[in-house]
Amino acid sequence: MSGSAPVTRETFDSVMLPVYAPATFVPVKGQGSRVWDQQGNEFIDFSGGIAVTALGHCHPALVAALKTQGEAIWHTSNLFTNEPALRLAKKLIDATFAERVFFANSGAEANEAAFKLARRYAIQRHSPYKTKIIAFHNAFHGRTLFTVSVGGQPKYSDGFGPKPADIIHVPFNDLAAVKAVIDDHTCAVVLEPVQGEGGITAVDADFLRGVRELCDKHQALLVFDEVQSGMGRTGTLFTYMQYGITPDILTSAKALGGGFPISAMLTTNEIASVMEPGVHGTTYGGNPLACAVAEAAFDVINTSAVLSGVQQRHQYIVSRLEEINHQYHAFSEVRGLGLLIGAQLQPKYQGKARDFLAASVEQGLMVLNAGPDVIRFAPSLVITSEELESGMAKFEKAVKAIVEAQG
Ligand SMILES: *Cc1c(COP(=O)(O)O)cnc(C)c1O
Repeated sequence: MSGSAPVTRETFDSVMLPVYAPATFVPVKGQGSRVWDQQGNEFIDFSGGIAVTALGHCHPALVAALKTQGEAIWHTSNLFTNEPALRLAKKLIDATFAERVFFANSGAEANEAAFKLARRYAIQRHSPYKTKIIAFHNAFHGRTLFTVSVGGQPKYSDGFGPKPADIIHVPFNDLAAVKAVIDDHTCAVVLEPVQGEGGITAVDADFLRGVRELCDKHQALLVFDEVQSGMGRTGTLFTYMQYGITPDILTSAKALGGGFPISAMLTTNEIASVMEPGVHGTTYGGNPLACAVAEAAFDVINTSAVLSGVQQRHQYIVSRLEEINHQYHAFSEVRGLGLLIGAQLQPKYQGKARDFLAASVEQGLMVLNAGPDVIRFAPSLVITSEELESGMAKFEKAVKAIVEAQG
C-alpha cells in the first residue's frame, strides 16, 4: 500500500465509469459465506457474487489450486495449450452431452461464441439465409452488442446504434409463440433454463420439450445459456439434466471459476466441425490460472454431497421465506430452483427491490435483486446451516423494517 492514498466507497463516484451503483460499504475479506468491510463490519453473503462464488469465499481447495498454479505458469496464449485447460475440458465433456469445449473469460463471451457458432453452422451446412435467432422476452445473455441484442430487455440494448439483425423475441414459456416464428431460416433458439436477471423464472418442461422438437424439425440448434443456472446452482451439474432435454450448445460461466473469471461453451463434434484455426478466439481463453481454479471448483461441486445439499438448502430458504411472508405479506410468490430463488414483491412494493437490499445491508446481509420487483437469493452451494439461519434472521428484520416504514 506504500504511496497510495486510502480509497473508500466515495472514491468510486469520482474514478469509475458510472455504470454501477455499488453498496455503501467496501468488502475487503471473505471466508465461507461471511464477508467483512473496511470498518470490520460482518455480513452474511446470500448474493454469492451474483451466483459466482458457489463454494463461498476463499474455499481452501480453490486457494490451493490458485497458489499451486500461480507458482507454475500463468499464461501462454493459445499459441500453446496447457494442462489445466485440457484437464478441465475433459472433465466437462465426461460430465455432460458435450464433445468439444471452447474457453473464454465471461458469460457474454461464451454466448457470443455460441451465437457465432450457431450462425456459422447453419450457413455452412444449410444456407446463407439461415440466420434467424429466436430468443425470449426478459432473457439476459450478456453485454456485448450481439449478446445484449439477443437478450430480451430493450432497455439494455437501445441507444448503441444499429443492432445485429435477424433476432426475434417471443414470450418465455409460450410454445405457440415459438411455433409462430420458427421456420427453416432459423439457425438457433436461445434460452436460459432458469431466467436469472429477468426475474428467476424456470422453464416449463413441456415448453422445453416442444422447443426441442421444433428445433429438430427445422434443423435449428438449441442453445442453453446456463451461465447462471449451471455448475450445481439448481441441484444438478447443469439444469438441463433435470429436464432430460439436451441442448446442442451450452454456455457456462459465473460459478465455473468459483470467483476466478472463466467461461466455457460446450458443443458436439458435428457442430464444432465448422470451426477451424483462426475463425474465432480470445487471448485469455483457457488461461492456466483460471482453468486450474475451475478444475478445483468442478471437483468439489460435481459430487453428490454438494449437489444434494442444494435441495436441502432450497427447502430451508423457501420455508423461512414463507414464514416471513406469513407475518409481513411482502411477497406475492416465491419461486426458482435449487439455490436460485426469487421472491416476487407484492404490488404495493413495486419497484422497491433495491430498498430491500439496502435494508438487508443495514442488518448485515448481502442479497440480490433480479429486476425492480424480485429479491434474489443465490448463496454459496455449501453455505452452512448456521450461516443460513443467521442470514434469514437478518432478512426477516430487513423485511420488518421496510413493511413497518411503509405502514
Ligand atoms: C451473468 C449472465 C451472463 C453474462 O455473463 P458476464 O460474465 O457478465 O458476461 C449471460 N447469461 C446469463 C444467463 C447470465 O446470468
